[in-house]
Amino acid sequence: MSMLLGKMLTESKVAVAKAKGAGEARYAWGCYGEVNIQPTETRNLFLFTFSNAEIRDKIWRDRPWSLSNTLTAIERYNGRGKPEDVAIEKMATWVQIHGLHQNQRNEENMVTIGSSYFLGLLDLDRASLEYTGYRRFLRILVEVDIREPVPTGFDFPFLDESSGVEHCEVIDFKYERLVELCYFCGRIGHNWPTCRRMNEERKKNSVAYLSEVYTATLKAGVDSPHRSSASQSRNREEGCIEGVKRLEAAGRRRGVEQQGEPKNTPWFHNPEG
Ligand SMILES: [Zn+2]
Repeated sequence: MSMLLGKMLTESKVAVAKAKGAGEARYAWGCYGEVNIQPTETRNLFLFTFSNAEIRDKIWRDRPWSLSNTLTAIERYNGRGKPEDVAIEKMATWVQIHGLHQNQRNEENMVTIGSSYFLGLLDLDRASLEYTGYRRFLRILVEVDIREPVPTGFDFPFLDESSGVEHCEVIDFKYERLVELCYFCGRIGHNWPTCRRMNEERKKNSVAYLSEVYTATLKAGVDSPHRSSASQSRNREEGCIEGVKRLEAAGRRRGVEQQGEPKNTPWFHNPEG
């Protein structure tokens, strides 16, 4: 039997998510071939059974999948053991890379970034290398560890040879189709009001601070604060809720607790440098 597991990364109403997610999978995958969809004992976890391995492999290859407007982590399953016991720890997602200069926009840097900051690089959108004037970001398909805060980007130091001054360029990652992101712990799949880690913090200190690192700007289509003061003030308002505040210290923009980021800045290919 050819099977896959799918975990919808949401904590929203399970019954609705189950019904809509299953319906959408049936609709989206109907053109691939016959698929049987069963809910499991774990909420928002589905077992997909296909009539042959070819269909399964096509669906696996065509990741990422978003069901009911919710990112869905797909995992291989060979039928041994219960579906509920399979660890679903990663998901595929398209990431946009914002902030690179024109002479840094090349395939080598896409590969370097994809393999340095994520679990793995699955594909490159080579069309995003073409300069169009309005779409000035690169797109890579990567695997993200959903147990950890999402990588937010990195600081890219470079030396201005004419002045001898070292500058620091901020490179931002943005995640496509990202809906549920926790502004406290930076993980995908829940929102901050239901964050277990935040509630533990509030028990200890009565106030928990929302992150300045994990904000709506990680969602594709939302401008970054350092490029848009309007979005910055909007983000601050989101945090103004009793007992939950957005951390103001600018030094936390690239928080030390951020994980999944290599200690050394990777090497970037610059054909002119
Ligand atoms: Zn959280």
